[in-house]
Amino acid sequence: MTGRRRLTITIETDEIIIVKHSSVSIRAWCAVCERESLLVNPEQAATVLGLTPRAVNERLASGKAHAVAVQDGQLICLTSFLR
Ligand SMILES: [Zn+2]
Repeated sequence: MTGRRRLTITIETDEIIIVKHSSVSIRAWCAVCERESLLVNPEQAATVLGLTPRAVNERLASGKAHAVAVQDGQLICLTSFLR
């Protein structure tokens, strides 16, 4: 007795796509540096630079670093912090 077995394998896949919008950083021209720079929001600047938000503000206030005004606030010029 010859029989054929038919084996059906069904694989189900679930794709989970996680898109993180936690980081807001743009590469744009900084008129102060006169070069392309990475601009980030103040909170991210503190994280990236390992500073407290207060320390970031103090650097901005002292003129040692600068920010670029944007439509809904300001973005920190990372280049100015790294000099
Ligand atoms: Zn700059």
